[in-house]
Parts: sequence; C-alpha cells; structure tokens
Amino acid sequence: RAKASPGQSFCFFEPGMDRAVTERARTERELREAIAADAIEPFFQPLVELSTGRILGYEALARWRQQDGAVKDPDEFIPIAEECGLIGDLYFGLLAKAAREAREWDQGTILSINLSPLQFSDPWLVGRTLKVLNHAGLSPARLEVEITESALVSELETARAVIANFKRQGIKVSLDDFGTGYSSLRHLSELHFDKLKIDRSFISNIDTNLDSQTIVQAVTSMAHHLGLQVIVEGVETEASAQSVRDFGCDVGQGFLYGRPAPGHAAKQENSDSEPSESKVERVA
Ligand code: C2E
Ligand code: MG
Ligand code: MG
Ligand code: MG
Repeated sequence: RAKASPGQSFCFFEPGMDRAVTERARTERELREAIAADAIEPFFQPLVELSTGRILGYEALARWRQQDGAVKDPDEFIPIAEECGLIGDLYFGLLAKAAREAREWDQGTILSINLSPLQFSDPWLVGRTLKVLNHAGLSPARLEVEITESALVSELETARAVIANFKRQGIKVSLDDFGTGYSSLRHLSELHFDKLKIDRSFISNIDTNLDSQTIVQAVTSMAHHLGLQVIVEGVETEASAQSVRDFGCDVGQGFLYGRPAPGHAAKQENSDSEPSESKVERVA
C-alpha cells in the first residue's frame, strides 16, 4: 500500500526499513555464496511402511550449514532462493549430494526430494535431474519428487507435462502437503500422481480430533480408489501411528520414526538389521 502511493515512499528510508533491506541483501548474498560453495546440505527423514515399520526411503530436506556450525531451516532460505532465482541451483546441488548418499543405502531404498513450483518453468528440469542421477550413480527408479499443491494452481498445463515427463523416466511424483493451501480434487484426477502426502496438520491431533479422523479416513479411501499410495506427515506419537494404521494409510513420516538428520545417520539406521520395533522405542 505504501509502495503504491508516491507520498508514502519516504517510508523506505526509515531506519528500521533500511536495516531490514540491508539485512535481506546480505542474506541473499550469503545464500548465493553458500549455494556456490555447496554449503546447502540434505538432512534425511525416514519414510516408514506403517504395516511393518520397515524404512522404505528418506526425504531429503535442505539445511544451510552456517560458518559457526549452526544449521538454518528451509523456511528461512527457500523463499529467498525462490525470489532471487537461485532455487534451481539449490535443487541440483542438493540432489547431487543426496543421490551420492542414497547410493550407499540398501538397494531399492527411495530418495524423495522437494521441488519448488518455480522450477516447472525450467525446460531442462527433468533432463538435468537425470544427468545428476547418472553422475551420482543412482537409478531414476530410486528417486521420487514432491510437489506442493500451491505449485499447481497457476501452472496446471505445465505441471501436467512435467509430471508426465518425470514418470516417463521412472521417477515417481508425490503431491505434498495435501489438504492445505490450494487443494483441488481436480488435481488428483487430472495430474497423475503416484502418491499423496496428507499434511501434518491433520495428523498431529488425529488420535483425539474426530474431524481429522474423518478427513484422513475419507482422503485415504479416495486416494486408494484413484490408485495413489498415501503418506502421512507429522506422526509424532504411537497413538497417532495407531490411528493412521487403522485408517489404512500406507506410509508414515514424523518425529516418532526419526527427525531429519545428516546423511551418515540415515546410513547407519538403514543398515540396522532390525528395522521396526526397536527403532520406534528408541525415539518414543
Ligand atoms: P515438507 O516437504 O512438507 O517436509 C516436511 C517438514 O515437516 C520438514 O520440515 C520436517 O522436518 C517436518 N516434520 C517431519 N515430521 C514432523 C513431525 O512429526 N512433527 C513436526 N512438527 N514436523 C515434522 P523442514 O525440514 O523444516 O522443511 C519445511 C519445508 O521446507 C518442507 O516441507 C518443504 O516444503 C520445504 N523444503 C525443504 N527442503 C526443500 C528443498 O530442498 N527444496 C524446496 N523447494 N523446498 C524444500
Ligand atoms: Mg516434502
Ligand atoms: Mg509436506
Ligand atoms: Mg510442508
């Protein structure tokens, strides 16, 4: 509002504003350097088969390692990367690292990675993804990409083409954060996703909230009828794990099974011979 009115433009020179702009410019520069220096690294969080407790794969989640060793979460830098055109570089760098880790896991263990909506406009997205996988020595059949619903609204045609292209290469595609933002059931029928990830806001209270129970049950049934596998995010307690198992959800992800952690942790966990109960007990 202030921007649109010329008389108000002086507000940009208020000291607080000025500082915010400078701060932002600095973050942007540091992010650019971090991506170039390969300082964005993947943390991995297990995806667990609910019926058996077996680890099927890991989602790679971006972390920005600071000079002092501290780690920044994605909500602090993904939006900036998107705004200044760095998200593609960030993705390919992260994919390269994650794929190198994933190559060390048991055969067949899936690597899942997030895509930003903005990457749909990159005509080389799928081709470069294959190239990175090839270079890392990971089969495309081991990769899945997660796309959030917000991505699909404005770009339905493009989304359709990109998804089809990924699938043609044997890369599975998940619809992330389902039930929040710009949900449309049309997306489910028109875009041929392999998996649907129900947003964690429906899971965090599922053992006590009847509405969440009804929604998760209905969405799971609908997804299964459409041929989609169902993943639930935000499984934090044994009680919610029990609920989603009862509702027939296929795969769980959440602090109960493991928090996002650096690659070597995933590797250790994955080579454990006893996958299910012991792990749940350890974190519970
Ligand atoms: P997401 O893809 O839905 O990832 C799941 C988020 O939920 C992760 O947050 C994870 O740490 C968190 N989470 C998992 N289990 C639980 C749980 O039991 N309880 C709670 N409270 N939270 C849980 P994180 O790592 O902070 O990532 C946030 C979002 O940032 C991701 O949501 C994704 O949309 C985005 N993101 C992360 N890495 C990338 C990336 O490389 N590229 C893009 N474009 N987006 C990314
Ligand atoms: Mg995701
Ligand atoms: Mg999600
Ligand atoms: Mg999310």
